[in-house]
Amino acid sequence: MTYLPNILFAIVLITGIGYFAKNVKKLIRNIKLGLDVDVSDNKSQRWKNMVMIALGQSKMVRRPIAGVLHVIVYVGFIIINIEVLEIIIDGLLGTHRIFSVIGKPYYLVINLFEILAVLVFVSVIIFWIRRNIIKLKRFWKKEMTSWPKNDGNFILYFEMVLMMLFLVMNATDTQFQSVNSGNIISQFITPWFSGMSESVLHTIERTAWWLHIIGILIFLNYLYFSKHLHILLAFPNTYYGKLTPKGQFNNLEAVTKEVKMMMDPNIDPFAAPAEDTEPPAKFGASDVQDLNWVQLLNAYTCTECGRCTSECPANLTGKKLSPRKIMMDTRDRLEEVGKNIDKNKGVFKDDGKQLLGDYITTEELWACTTCSACVEACPVSIDPLSIILEMRRYLVMEQSAAPVELNNMMTNIENNGAPWPYNQMDRLNWKDEQ
Ligand code: SF4
Ligand code: SF4
Repeated sequence: MTYLPNILFAIVLITGIGYFAKNVKKLIRNIKLGLDVDVSDNKSQRWKNMVMIALGQSKMVRRPIAGVLHVIVYVGFIIINIEVLEIIIDGLLGTHRIFSVIGKPYYLVINLFEILAVLVFVSVIIFWIRRNIIKLKRFWKKEMTSWPKNDGNFILYFEMVLMMLFLVMNATDTQFQSVNSGNIISQFITPWFSGMSESVLHTIERTAWWLHIIGILIFLNYLYFSKHLHILLAFPNTYYGKLTPKGQFNNLEAVTKEVKMMMDPNIDPFAAPAEDTEPPAKFGASDVQDLNWVQLLNAYTCTECGRCTSECPANLTGKKLSPRKIMMDTRDRLEEVGKNIDKNKGVFKDDGKQLLGDYITTEELWACTTCSACVEACPVSIDPLSIILEMRRYLVMEQSAAPVELNNMMTNIENNGAPWPYNQMDRLNWKDEQ
């Protein structure tokens, strides 16, 4: 009977971690639905990017208020959760504050945790005020309704509750308080419970302890359904992020080959294609499976912060385009495809839908100026422009569905070697009119 709490703890822990592992497997499977892309180059630069951008939060602090608050929440939350290790060992072995055997350093660390808990709590309240009272514009755009809006708030409430539970757990731990060290903050909460008997305090302490670990396990599993996946994915995403200049277009191998052949005077224009010539792949992307896996990883990593949209000239001038929505749509469609695969025993069955049209409209795609401001603004190295360009490529090369102005320009380039609708010989005619 004395082992019952330990057994219960082991069951809760295994269930929580098991469900998380199942979702991670699904996440990896979905990301792998993307096309292969070679990201094995320049490893040192990639590591540097990951350390600077994901760990060092270098792009977050460009907006100092949000940046500093985010660093506090991020660092605080991660460091405080180191304490989970002690909770797990205590829970499994039935010990109490097992690490306290090391003495003074333990209490110094708990002091630090308590200070961080308060800082995280205050930062989260400021985030909540910015979101819900000040109503920062980027959190109230069209795509930020229903789930994305609630998700942002849920996580703030969650963090407040977890920090509170941590402090209450310390404040009602009579054994811990009697040492009177490491309780730099919780000593001021202890009086809230004065007059309560030892056994009531013990019950509150145990309840806070259980709720704290259960809360952390729920948080862990909530990540998959939330924009907060970036807590984990920011690391691989910044590592695999694009190293070439922003907005640089990749040439299609098949097209490059074709053009080279056209320009080669020694090639027989009437020769039949070689027998082993592969049929041309689909040009561009109309659905998530046509994007590469890094682009799909980007979609899952998006924090929905809206920094990209708040810098996007198309969005700022009232166009329908929002780079954040491009990423959210890509992730939503990818999730839909993943669920389809789950439902159909590992095989995707055509559902008559696709990313292009059902999620992202051509109006949005053609509103993009390709300025790369969104790529520059993103704090976790996401590249919405690359998805827009792939989808435009599909429209142009597979559907010949470019806007008429572009079609005219392309025809002019083809016929006149310039975007203007007149012969090359007439280019200087304007000077005769002066
Ligand atoms: S590249 Fe396109 S989507 Fe990105 S900021 Fe510029 S106009 Fe907006
Ligand atoms: S793409 Fe980047 S900047 Fe845009 S909402 Fe997502 S995380 Fe924020």
